[in-house]
Amino acid sequence: MPLRRIMILRYIVSLILLVFVTGCSNIYSRLTYDFEELSSSRNIFYENGAEDLVKYVDDNLADLVSELEAQQYLEFKAPEKLKVFLFNDKERYSSYSFASVRTRGSATTNDIYISPIIRERIGTFRSILKHELSHIHIRQYIGTWSYIKDIPGWFLEGLAVEVSGGAGAENVSVDMLTSAAQRSHR
Ligand SMILES: [Zn+2]
Repeated sequence: MPLRRIMILRYIVSLILLVFVTGCSNIYSRLTYDFEELSSSRNIFYENGAEDLVKYVDDNLADLVSELEAQQYLEFKAPEKLKVFLFNDKERYSSYSFASVRTRGSATTNDIYISPIIRERIGTFRSILKHELSHIHIRQYIGTWSYIKDIPGWFLEGLAVEVSGGAGAENVSVDMLTSAAQRSHR
């Protein structure tokens, strides 16, 4: 077999193995999670030990959804699909959500994931929830593929930071923004 064809075959086999190994391990690790479901809400799921966070979300989620809908001028497309997952271990948060262990929250098309490190800055909990709701609000309408492909990250993050009153950008100064904008023009 020609060397080039062997190299291509090896590449394909490596790719398949990579997808298989990482995909399966992720699926396996997700199967080991055991969430409690809040009986009074279809939207809130939590790990044992995160009950303090549950109460906060339960008390605030309906108001946050209404506020966000007013700010982004549309109702959620599928509010019944919205779920908030609250973790009591930051490593488990990270491996379930695929977000950095340093983040307080993250989101997919319908799910918000909250790390227990939110407790270190509990005053930001409400705005972090709203930031993630902003992402889900758009993503429910246009789908994940278009969300990633068609809308620039600066717009999505800028909107989420704006509607949440600054969540996720608390440590960004005007100088940092100015130099980032200048770099992007080069
Ligand atoms: Zn964001």
